[in-house]
Amino acid sequence: MVNIKSQSEIAKLRKAGQITGGALVAAGKAIRPGMTTKELDNLILKYFKSHGAKAGFLGYGGFPGAACISVNDVVIHGIPGGYVLKEGDIVSVDTGAYIDGVYGDSAKTFAVGEISDEAKALMKSTEDSLYLAISMVKPGVRLGDIGAAIQKHNEDNGFGVVREFVGHGVGHDLHEDPEVPNFGKPGHGLRLREGMVIAIEPMITAGDHAVKVLDDGWTTVTKDHSLAAHFEHTIAVTATGCMILSDPNS
Ligand code: MG
Ligand code: MG
Repeated sequence: MVNIKSQSEIAKLRKAGQITGGALVAAGKAIRPGMTTKELDNLILKYFKSHGAKAGFLGYGGFPGAACISVNDVVIHGIPGGYVLKEGDIVSVDTGAYIDGVYGDSAKTFAVGEISDEAKALMKSTEDSLYLAISMVKPGVRLGDIGAAIQKHNEDNGFGVVREFVGHGVGHDLHEDPEVPNFGKPGHGLRLREGMVIAIEPMITAGDHAVKVLDDGWTTVTKDHSLAAHFEHTIAVTATGCMILSDPNS
């Protein structure tokens, strides 16, 4: 069942989203070669605490970090730990504040120092496809229209679109209906309505789109070990378009 959010719920979701976006800005400023992914996670946890929020991901389904920190061929759900970031890595940080009974959810892939042209192109394609999707959102647009646009943009650039994991509704639960795929057919799927709050989150690979989950039950890597990027915003559908809830500057 897809929940339609009230104005007061959307205001709370915006607060959670802005704290989430702020944590990603802080993470981006701190990322450098020599830092462990656990240090990065601790920085995000402290950011949430100092803004009166809890780390929505910590303990969610048993996840052991405040953020999913996914390096290079890790697509999503990387567990923060002792890995030391090095020049040339790309690192996807996916996190969410929990405050006033609702979640934020946003992700961004960052460069560690100087990165390859392939990594730059992958990150640009993934981020551009997120903003392309956001530009399409308004009442009446179908989820298949959005998924197809994300898929076409990235496949035209020669990249793979992950199928096994998708975007989702956001609210009092981190993952609500509907599913928001990054692939699809125009003219198919649920029609967006004013008051829906969804996370759009393209997960894109430099090689084949197939992924596998490692034995820890979380870490999701590309099967061919190609690089992966992940950009995500939580948005609210408005009467005429949408509002990005997880943009700290919105
Ligand atoms: Mg996320
Ligand atoms: Mg999400």
